Amino acid sequence: MIMPQESLIVEAVPVLGDNYVWMFASNNKEYVAVDPGEATAVSQWLDRLGASLSHILLTHHHNDHTGGVADLKRRYGAKIIGSKADAQRLPPLDHAVKEGDILNVGECQVQIIETPGHTMGHVIYKVGDALFVGDTLFSMGCGRLFEGSPEVMWQSLQKIQTLPDATKIYPAHEYTLTNHGFALMLEPDNQDLLALQKELLIKNDNDTPTLPTTLAAEKKLNPFLRTEDDQFAKKIGLQAKTPQERFAILREKRNHF
Ligand code: ZN
Ligand code: FE
Repeated sequence: MIMPQESLIVEAVPVLGDNYVWMFASNNKEYVAVDPGEATAVSQWLDRLGASLSHILLTHHHNDHTGGVADLKRRYGAKIIGSKADAQRLPPLDHAVKEGDILNVGECQVQIIETPGHTMGHVIYKVGDALFVGDTLFSMGCGRLFEGSPEVMWQSLQKIQTLPDATKIYPAHEYTLTNHGFALMLEPDNQDLLALQKELLIKNDNDTPTLPTTLAAEKKLNPFLRTEDDQFAKKIGLQAKTPQERFAILREKRNHF
């Protein structure tokens, strides 16, 4: 059964400083948690709503995304879903998934997309027009290349860009303000970036999530999704390079920003 997109509820539970556990549901009694890096904040959030946890979706094995799984499994018996390719490094999985799989998770249909780069087993989850991207894509940024080559990550980001522009992007970290600073350093006269500055600072001061973002906004603002734009490349002095080379250089620069 395909979920009417408007009826998907998505909420953020902030954990561990700058992670978000995204909680989604088609009704407000039974939630799915994406990347619960910590259990306490998630169970307190569910308790406040009188809701339970039916499933846990994992994008990759890093502890800030999986640290809460064992406790939440014990408490709620939630079914755990993660990449088949990474099953040995993930907590014990109830469903091991791969590219193209479509799972019925409660009343929602969840599509699995493999996006190697940050880790080789990284997967992301599409639920209606919501896309839970873990550490592959951030607002105005992308994940660090712990395991994949720049070419592999670039290809994963290309795959995401084939989805509809209205896709809502839910990354696992609040890195927006720093990423905005990096984007603005590359392109100090970008009016779209300048227009965002005040809003981001206010949200930062109030601990308000800057997410989700949309694919349309990221195509416009995110330097890592603009490597095929020759005008942008020229502005940042990389016009002679291929998009993949531009991506590699930008990712390296971001590591030192
Ligand atoms: Zn990670
Ligand atoms: Fe992370």
